[in-house]
Amino acid sequence: MSASEKLPCKMCGAMIRPSTFEQYGGICAKCHHQTRRGGFVDSLEVLGALLFPLIMIAVFVFGIPLGHYLFFGGRDTDLHRGITKSVTLVAEVPNVELNGKPARVTTRYLVIETGNGETVWIPDENVAGVEFEAQER
Ligand SMILES: [Zn+2]
Repeated sequence: MSASEKLPCKMCGAMIRPSTFEQYGGICAKCHHQTRRGGFVDSLEVLGALLFPLIMIAVFVFGIPLGHYLFFGGRDTDLHRGITKSVTLVAEVPNVELNGKPARVTTRYLVIETGNGETVWIPDENVAGVEFEAQER
């Protein structure tokens, strides 16, 4: 069989045997498989390509504030700040005076400065109650 007996594929131009040409309606076997694979799979790929930037934008817009909240647990947001009058804990912290100390309440912690530069972070679930001195502003 010589090259002149081959015919060009209608899709990619590759020279194919007349039997292949007839079998696949003028296209080569490779193009035939790609055509069959197309349709549903291709539209999913297109959809994915369109959604990907949207997902990335969503991650940046919503993910960063959420991640910031989860990582820092609102540590940088003070809900209340003052001098403690009485602190009631679920489980007592031994040998630490918690009353009459500068403290602040965050979303997840009661932060008490116990003196000498020491700070005690008490998780919210361990705080049964906290009373502050009347605030002078
Ligand atoms: Zn082809």
